Amino acid sequence: MSTERLAGRTALVTGASSGIGNAIAAAFGREGANVAVADIRREPKLDDERSVFDRLSAVDAESHFVETDVSDDGSVEAAIESTVDRFGGLDVLVNNAGIYYQNRAHETPTEEYDEILDVNLRGVFLSSKAAVPALKRSDNGKIINLASIYGLVGGENSAAYCASKGGVANLTRQMALDYAEDEININALAPGIIKTAQNVEWRENNEEILEAWHRDTPWPRFGEPDDVADAALFLASDESDFVTGTVLSVDGGWTAR
Ligand code: NAP
Repeated sequence: MSTERLAGRTALVTGASSGIGNAIAAAFGREGANVAVADIRREPKLDDERSVFDRLSAVDAESHFVETDVSDDGSVEAAIESTVDRFGGLDVLVNNAGIYYQNRAHETPTEEYDEILDVNLRGVFLSSKAAVPALKRSDNGKIINLASIYGLVGGENSAAYCASKGGVANLTRQMALDYAEDEININALAPGIIKTAQNVEWRENNEEILEAWHRDTPWPRFGEPDDVADAALFLASDESDFVTGTVLSVDGGWTAR
């Protein structure tokens, strides 16, 4: 049910064609926002995922696709520019695009480390840098970064990913300080295991990892993309106007131990 919490606002969500970003974009559209979908792909990754554009049009939200690689500064700048041109401004940036490969440090090819850091951390930096001027012009400027439980605690077999998400968590705190005087709220979400394409292979085909993830998730189920979208909606809305520099766990209790 819509409560029009984002009526008249414009949001740009990176990686919004699939998974968590898709759910965030749909929730923002339902609450009245115009939504720019900035992704390297247009179609969702999983066969049973609904197109974000169908979800947005079903709630009469305006959508705008901008093919974007968040690790490329020119691509990101063009995405922000085209969103501002299309909708007249930008109020909310969600830095959601991210990738995950499993490896211990000594087994991680340097190219893989660079790729993960480029998308997950450099991407957040580049998109935020490009968006700040427009967000300063907004009366409701918000940045929401997708960190992870693996940005708050270590996780086995995930050296580059943990390095990238730890960076996202602390870049969030750092930027919150610099832009508080401009009244731009800058926060992060730290999801636990959320059922998306990012982990489907392990959930479906790796009994050992599945068991370990259930053991580490006190809540009796894994998360759904909508669980994260609900938290993102709070961070995008006026209800979080005095919340900045925080990393909110959406993890079924994983990091409560
Ligand atoms: P997902 O289902 O794989 O969706 C990510 C989307 O981002 C895909 O459409 C992907 O396209 C796109 N993308 C990848 N690289 C990109 C780039 N360079 N520029 C623009 N778009 C790009 O992932 P998700 O599970 O929803 O994850 C969303 C965010 O939450 C990520 O930052 C992730 O690390 C974080 N997170 C997820 C979980 C979880 O359990 N799922 C837990 C903690 C944190 P391609 O697939 O074609 O590359």
